[in-house]
Amino acid sequence: MPHPSNTTAANAVAATKSSPNGKTAMIIGAGPAGLMAAERLAGKGYAVTLYEGMPSAGRKFLMAGKSGLNITHSEDLETFLTRYGTSRDRLEPHLRTFGPDQIRDWCAGLGVETFVGSSGRVFPTAMKASPLLRAWLKRLDGLGCKIHYRHYWTGWKDAGQAVFKTPDSPTNGDVTATADITVLALGGGSWKRLGSDGKWMDILQNAGIKCTPFKPANCGFDVNWTDHLIDKCAGAPVKAVTLTCGTQTVRGEFVISKTGIEGSAVYAISAPLRDQWLETGDATVTLDLTPDRSLEDVTNRLAKPRGKNSMGNHLRKTLGLDATKTALVFEVTPRETLNDPTKLATAIKALPIKITKPRPIDEAISTAGGVAWEELDENFQLKKRPGTYCLGEMVDWEAPTGGYLLSGCFAAAAHHNWL
Ligand SMILES: Cc1cc2nc3c(=O)[nH]c(=O)nc-3n(C[C@H](O)[C@H](O)[C@H](O)COP(=O)(O)OP(=O)(O)OC[C@H]3O[C@@H](n4cnc5c(N)ncnc54)[C@H](O)[C@@H]3O)c2cc1C
Repeated sequence: MPHPSNTTAANAVAATKSSPNGKTAMIIGAGPAGLMAAERLAGKGYAVTLYEGMPSAGRKFLMAGKSGLNITHSEDLETFLTRYGTSRDRLEPHLRTFGPDQIRDWCAGLGVETFVGSSGRVFPTAMKASPLLRAWLKRLDGLGCKIHYRHYWTGWKDAGQAVFKTPDSPTNGDVTATADITVLALGGGSWKRLGSDGKWMDILQNAGIKCTPFKPANCGFDVNWTDHLIDKCAGAPVKAVTLTCGTQTVRGEFVISKTGIEGSAVYAISAPLRDQWLETGDATVTLDLTPDRSLEDVTNRLAKPRGKNSMGNHLRKTLGLDATKTALVFEVTPRETLNDPTKLATAIKALPIKITKPRPIDEAISTAGGVAWEELDENFQLKKRPGTYCLGEMVDWEAPTGGYLLSGCFAAAAHHNWL
């Protein structure tokens, strides 16, 4: 993968002031947020130097590409904005200026066409991230951005210089860098092997900056399945259902795993489910296995004579339930309920799945938590550290899957009133 000038940072003083505006910018973290900040700052005339702990840029971005790279969403902007929940107010000005349409135009500008999938999600036609990342790094190179890979940020010196651990140092020790502005774009706390280890949180907290602890977002959950269900259904999809937790209901599909439940509809309901579990130590997601049929319709169909049919066959013939849905009904429904059409219909329309805990944070698609909003001004600048900005998943916001995560990372970095 070509990349911007990967100069050895033997003495990693950030770019010289030979830039068009005479100013330097240091960006730490070369994921989508950091790369977008680099593009915008270079475009504004800054001499930009990126520092990245890993040997290459955008590893999580490339991983997102393995499932097609859902880069944004095509729904109307008002609905789109609601996906950012309590962080909407802070992100909205940025998303209105650099939202889904602008993201698609920006992709096209890099030679990457996008299309709208049947769910309204937007993907690059190639369904992967590498062509986009390659073109992007080439653009950054053309803009004069430098990237120092294997430069792992460990904090600030008293005088304010950023300190990096790097094997490129002649003494194999630390190198330091300074710049007129610093952008931290260090990512969240999941999938550590891709570079975002979340250790920056300790550094910022020690510097007096409030951070909300990481929580898994867009994650799976453990369920105490019986061995019988695991043998029969692990890996099987449960399609066209609704999942409800509290006041939130989502429609879609999910997968039964050996340890519990995962997949798109589970991720979509994961925030309230996780919060319920965190608050009470207990949480239940309620499935409607036949969301297109009323309770009355389901009851009437189940009341038809079963004859010599097994219960499984009866459920298939009367309601179209497949083997996986039927196994789920048997898994959580008491025997006596199965023989009562009214009770069984109620169970099928509201099947309670008790979760025992969220999957470990490192497995989550993203993390909630991070730099507290109150620490940032409207330009994502740290109030206690003027000239230092925090962007991307490291800030305390969350959004569902559907292209909203990358959109949020791009938007805040692209639409920005830098110093
Ligand atoms: C499997 C998977 C699939 C996904 N699919 C999608 C999707 O389809 N659509 C979507 O919108 N989102 C998706 N996401 C989420 C999305 O990839 C992230 O939200 C996004 O990459 C966050 O961007 P970022 O720039 O904030 O952080 P990151 O992409 O995590 O980048 C942060 C960078 O900082 C570097 N870094 C961290 N600490 C240091 C340090 N101390 N010193 C130097 N460098 C450091 C890291 O190595 C990394 O390169 C997916 C995530 C995963 C795990």
